[in-house]
Amino acid sequence: MKALDGKTAIVTGGGSGIGRATAERFAEEGTNVVVADVVEETGHETVDRIEAAGGEATFVAVDVTDTESVEGMVATAVDTYGRLDVAFNNAGILTGFTETTSISEEQWDRLLDINLKGIWTCMKAELPVMEQQGSGVIVNTASESGLVGMAGLSSYSASKHGVVGLTKSVALEYASRGVRVNAIAPGPTKTNISSGMLGGSDTLSSIPFVGQVSRWIQVLEMTISTMRAEFDTSAMRDVPMGRVAEPEEMAGAVAFLCSSDASFITGHTLPVDGGQAAD
Ligand code: NAD
Repeated sequence: MKALDGKTAIVTGGGSGIGRATAERFAEEGTNVVVADVVEETGHETVDRIEAAGGEATFVAVDVTDTESVEGMVATAVDTYGRLDVAFNNAGILTGFTETTSISEEQWDRLLDINLKGIWTCMKAELPVMEQQGSGVIVNTASESGLVGMAGLSSYSASKHGVVGLTKSVALEYASRGVRVNAIAPGPTKTNISSGMLGGSDTLSSIPFVGQVSRWIQVLEMTISTMRAEFDTSAMRDVPMGRVAEPEEMAGAVAFLCSSDASFITGHTLPVDGGQAAD
């Protein structure tokens, strides 16, 4: 990819899924990567994987809903590598399918805080550094649910529509100041987020009482695995290309948007969805 070599990038949610694949892709392109995640163990794993492949990366613990923590993340990038060229604001959560009237205020606030406010918090800290440099590229993670409504996912869909609007508005503010701002809208992608939606078996096994009841865990794991297969099958039916995406396919789109090949693209949300948005 043109112009990624020797740059510095932040990837939030870099400990897993799309964030990890993108952090690894950036490192392959010769970019110094700041892997930022609220889960320290998986974030460190991403750094270890990048270093084992000969790349350069640093981990920083961040909660994207916390301004101080986000400012610390940006400061780490600048202190460690001297600048900040690229930011992939990607951290997000997805809760299970819930009717709108059954969503509690606490659940609503938490999801919107991470998925939407978290993107604003990150950009608020990143933009001044990029403006001062006179250059920078930001890619935010929206979703197919940010382009169309999804029954049972109203809070998630609202947060991702918010990301699309936020991306357009900030792109306009910074278009003449050397900073491009775009988003990707992933279709269904093989990551932990779908496991979280189904109540992942890792979470169940980590509860001590449940851990003792191994037969029940087996039954639950079989049920979850069946539900995952159903999720994959139903996702495949919805995707014109007939399959779900690999996280690396999102990473490729992000790398393109961050490269100089995309130098005249700003304010857009790129669906990376096997044709779903065209349907
Ligand atoms: P994932 O669960 O594998 O990764 C999400 C990462 O975000 C995790 O490492 C998690 O620890 C981190 N994170 C969560 N809350 C955080 C916080 N407060 N601060 C910092 N980090 C936090 O899931 P993924 O699929 O890779 O998700 C990445 C993004 O892609 C999300 O924004 C998600 O909404 C979006 N997305 C995913 C899909 C899909 O099908 N997987 C589809 C559309 C959009």
